[in-house]
Amino acid sequence: SLVGKDIHLSFGTNKVLRGVSIDVPAGTTTTVIGPSGSGKSTLLRALNRLHEPEQGDILLDGKSVLKDNPDELRQRIGMVFQQFNLFPHKTVADNIALGPRKLLGLSKEAARAAAIDQLELVGLTDKADSRPGNLSGGQQQRVAIARALAMKPEVMFFDEATSALDPELVKGVLALMADLAKGGMTMVVVTHEMGFARSVSNRVLFMDHGSAVETGTPEQLFDDPHTDRLKTFLSQVL
Ligand code: ATP
Ligand code: MG
Repeated sequence: SLVGKDIHLSFGTNKVLRGVSIDVPAGTTTTVIGPSGSGKSTLLRALNRLHEPEQGDILLDGKSVLKDNPDELRQRIGMVFQQFNLFPHKTVADNIALGPRKLLGLSKEAARAAAIDQLELVGLTDKADSRPGNLSGGQQQRVAIARALAMKPEVMFFDEATSALDPELVKGVLALMADLAKGGMTMVVVTHEMGFARSVSNRVLFMDHGSAVETGTPEQLFDDPHTDRLKTFLSQVL
């Protein structure tokens, strides 16, 4: 499980997270929705300590990770962004094998085998020796997901993983994310895809102005929103 408790974070005088709590039981998916600038990306970055929270606590499997080495935490949490950030001069397999080799200490052969395993999962074994530039955006994003999974993370974060993709490529990536969720991965997904939020996630967290304004099941948030802020947001995105 991943728990964030009362997380505060500012950039200068800009209070971006004003005491956000999130509770993601193991094997469940929480979707984070909310307007642009509400702090969704910052919440993910605070939870894996790319930005250190000023206040609050982060627990993985019930144990606070704030005193641990942040690099250790980031190995336990896989992250997939809007931009794929693959190395263009390395093959797809080498992109995926790099982390397991460097950070998990796998041999070249074992890291390659791990990369192929993950490529199988995302349906791209035939692209192992291609360069990322020769793949479609959707395929590149599936490689980025495979790269994160190769580190055997306990939790996966997705930050608008499909926002940069051409519309016809979005479905395949969302389907892969849905498969991961069904397979029992613990996930936090920031997305504008309300269909995914409703049909895949166990819980939804609505953020506005740095606060978790409402949180509950998809049915609770989408069918019975309590606050005007969520009602307004939903009227704009649905
Ligand atoms: P979007 O839907 O557009 O991605 P978001 O909900 O992810 O928005 P954040 O990126 O978390 O929003 O930004 C929240 C606020 O924090 C914004 O006011 C933004 O300008 C500010 N902010 C984010 N990152 C930084 C940074 N590295 N330095 C300074 N301010 C930042
Ligand atoms: Mg963002």
